[in-house]
Amino acid sequence: MNCQLGPWGEVPAQIVSRFLQDSVLIPRADTSAALKDGVLPEVERILKEVHLLDARFGPDFQRSGSYIEGLKVSEPDEFDFLVPVNGLDEKIFGLGPSTVALQEVRPDGSFVPVFLPPCQKHQACATCGTGGKSSPTSLCSWRQDNVSDPQPSGEWLLNPRKVMSVFKQSVSEAIREKPGKVTVQRLQQETPAVTFSVPHEQMNISVDLVPIIKHPLVGWKIPSPRSEQSWPSPEKIHEIQIAGVDLVAKHHLYWRYSFSRVERLLLERIDEGGGHRRNSLRILKKIRVDLWKKKYPKALVSYHLKSVLFWACEVYPSSEHWEDLTESFKRLVDFLIFFLRDGRLPHYFLGSDVNLFKVDKSVLTEISQNVEKFRNSPEKYLQSSD
Ligand SMILES: [Zn+2]
Repeated sequence: MNCQLGPWGEVPAQIVSRFLQDSVLIPRADTSAALKDGVLPEVERILKEVHLLDARFGPDFQRSGSYIEGLKVSEPDEFDFLVPVNGLDEKIFGLGPSTVALQEVRPDGSFVPVFLPPCQKHQACATCGTGGKSSPTSLCSWRQDNVSDPQPSGEWLLNPRKVMSVFKQSVSEAIREKPGKVTVQRLQQETPAVTFSVPHEQMNISVDLVPIIKHPLVGWKIPSPRSEQSWPSPEKIHEIQIAGVDLVAKHHLYWRYSFSRVERLLLERIDEGGGHRRNSLRILKKIRVDLWKKKYPKALVSYHLKSVLFWACEVYPSSEHWEDLTESFKRLVDFLIFFLRDGRLPHYFLGSDVNLFKVDKSVLTEISQNVEKFRNSPEKYLQSSD
């Protein structure tokens, strides 16, 4: 990892730790009150209602996102919840690839099609054959025109756009029937979430509900973990392989892998042997929000920074490498510049098949120059930001 960078601008250690304390760490109490009193009761209530309307969704959910990873760096105004769908269990993923070829090539290795095998009962099946009422947790409740496209082979292609549309309808209806304090926002195309807002004290908290298909990733046939690397530890690898990944609806045809539960497992105890990996990432996330987010909202996102940390942990696997906060933070910035200059940030789990940067090299070069500008005079920024 060498991209011939000059020396860093002067930055005394106490300025970095003061920045962390004063500008980055959100008082945990604020956040948990917003979650506990404002958001959770509404989410529970709505998903219960959704489940009554369509048993394929809810009422269970899991928290996700930077709050739960302990990486929130701004006001607690956004929370994510994963909503595992019912009835699509792992047995459909052990079946091997379908023979059906899709018209459109998948955008990259993070997208997969989901096929349901033909119903064994064929025409006799009351659920998918004659369109009768779905039994809530059977695979046949997904062999339906409103969520899947029947294939000539007898298989069904689970259609992400249709699934999101059905989910959105149920959420909207649940809220219409029992609005409570909640308002729904418009569902955007190709986003994996239904978003609504909950007012809490002075804030308007935005809540994302993300339906997920739990995918056991049979055999875990992806490049990660790379066997020659000593991070993560074998125990951690075992844990994440058992957790599996999820699929989210981020395309109109293909489902996209989401490693959010696995990332949470990695981040949760990332510093258990000591070190400042997590705080380095927090500082970098905060600097992105303050300096670069406005100009490059989509080109450089917080997921990029998290991935940069994972790559840096692989290159520097030992806690001793991360003992010093300032050095750890500088390392992350230098890794970020390396990837920006290279124009490629490989997906940590899916490897170089998937470049997480989605914009032109010229934009990445521009961002890199901005990061380098910060690198030349970090003190100026870290001190003035209050
Ligand atoms: Zn059936």
